[in-house]
Amino acid sequence: MQQDELWIGTMLEGNARWVLVKSTDTAEEARRRHGMSPVATAALGRLMTGALILASSLKGDESITLRLLGDGPLQGVVAVGNAQGQVRGYVREPLVDLPLKASGKLDVGAAVGRGELSVSRSLQNGEVYTGMVPLVSGEIAEDLVHYLLNSEQIPSALLLGVLVEKDYHVAGAGGFLIQLLPGASEEVIQTIENLLGQLETGISELVAQSETMDQLLSRLMGQLSYHVLERRPIGFTCTCSKERLSGTLVSLGKKEIADLISDEKAEMVCHFCNEHYHFDVDELQEIWERA
Ligand SMILES: [Zn+2]
Repeated sequence: MQQDELWIGTMLEGNARWVLVKSTDTAEEARRRHGMSPVATAALGRLMTGALILASSLKGDESITLRLLGDGPLQGVVAVGNAQGQVRGYVREPLVDLPLKASGKLDVGAAVGRGELSVSRSLQNGEVYTGMVPLVSGEIAEDLVHYLLNSEQIPSALLLGVLVEKDYHVAGAGGFLIQLLPGASEEVIQTIENLLGQLETGISELVAQSETMDQLLSRLMGQLSYHVLERRPIGFTCTCSKERLSGTLVSLGKKEIADLISDEKAEMVCHFCNEHYHFDVDELQEIWERA
């Protein structure tokens, strides 16, 4: 399919809004950068897709950070999305390998474990609001629905999926959110439940099988009426730079920096994108002077 996109629209005569994301290339980029196992790719791909969906209602340079703080072998998954459709993220243990579930699916719930989901919104005025809920299953979509209902009182249905091939490549990744708008009738709720109940194929398989976003959307909606309001490009983008990481070195203090100078080099790695930055003696000297 074409490049990754996020679409926003309404359905059922304006009684519900939806957000659809195709994030195949975004998840593949994360997999490649972090060298992740299939279950780690699925966990991070789902969380990054969820971050893009939740960030789609933000403005300007606002961003949202999702953190899965679980006791499973991944030891934590973090994704940051913003209103421009940029997302980045990492898992603490990228090589985790677990047996498949009886259904043949990757066992994301076991890899995440039990714990909490934290959602932080950074707003334009510089304020950060953080909400926490216990994890329901660690499967991520369910956990985000639980958060939206309990912390934001928005009844939502959410599908998130990442299809990983035997050779570890991402064949399809995406997400589909439906939210009821105020005043939605029991009939609308029933129609949406029926729609999602009828989807026999997972969202990741549907993304992999669809050639365009239009085709994907019409497969998801079936016979229901809908409108597309907005289409945005999305992708894996990190905000790191050598300049930014040199600031981190400055904050270590003169003594630590002097140790690095005596080692004659230093390397800094960005957690979010796994980019390696090298600093030579001259650069470290300049950082020492700034400290
Ligand atoms: Zn980075």
